[in-house]
Amino acid sequence: MSRITDQWRKIQETIPAGVRLVAVSKTKPAEAIAELYEAGQRLFGENRVQELVDKQLALPSDIAWHAIGHLQTNKVKYIAPFVSLIHGVESLRLLETIHRQGEKCGRVIPCLLEFHIAREESKFGLNPEEAMAILEDPLYRTLTHVRIDGVMGMATYTDNLTQVREEFASLRRIFGELQRHYFAGAAHFCEVSMGMSGDYRIAIEEGSTLVRVGSSIFS
Ligand SMILES: *Cc1c(COP(=O)(O)O)cnc(C)c1O
Repeated sequence: MSRITDQWRKIQETIPAGVRLVAVSKTKPAEAIAELYEAGQRLFGENRVQELVDKQLALPSDIAWHAIGHLQTNKVKYIAPFVSLIHGVESLRLLETIHRQGEKCGRVIPCLLEFHIAREESKFGLNPEEAMAILEDPLYRTLTHVRIDGVMGMATYTDNLTQVREEFASLRRIFGELQRHYFAGAAHFCEVSMGMSGDYRIAIEEGSTLVRVGSSIFS
């Protein structure tokens, strides 16, 4: 068994039922993805559109591809025909674009709203008020080819694990509030995407349903 498969298996074994592992394969060659595919992994995350498109063409068609990074509106059209989930949506304008591209290819495209939970300035994401403004905008109700399946966020890059835990807990709270106010009874609104190589265990303890792990698997 190769090192990548071995590392993947060890992580997979620690992930409880109800949490899914997104193998973040950005910058890694198709061969590395094919190896994990053989081992049983079906969910892969990429943050560059060109790379996502190239790999989707080269690899088996039953892979579920997640777009995990910041997404530019002018690139949505390239991934709309196949992407399984877009993690980083943080504007009504992007949702509108995704809707339009989804309409063109006859799909309803699942998305997550990205929240700014880190204390760092640099990270992307909405605050709860901005998210509420999107969900209450009359335009949003017309977007029949996007579906919001939950929330996504990134904790501060720090050794302070108490802070990381608090940030994840805040995303879980935001998820609960949105569920209550806007998605009551909507079974599809069920995803909390949080946790990367350095902090996915804490994220799972705080209610993550999708962990996005790259370097711990592939390096
Ligand atoms: C790269 C990346 C990850 C994975 O990070 P690792 O530390 O390599 O596990 C997760 N989420 C996003 C948005 C990323 O860009």
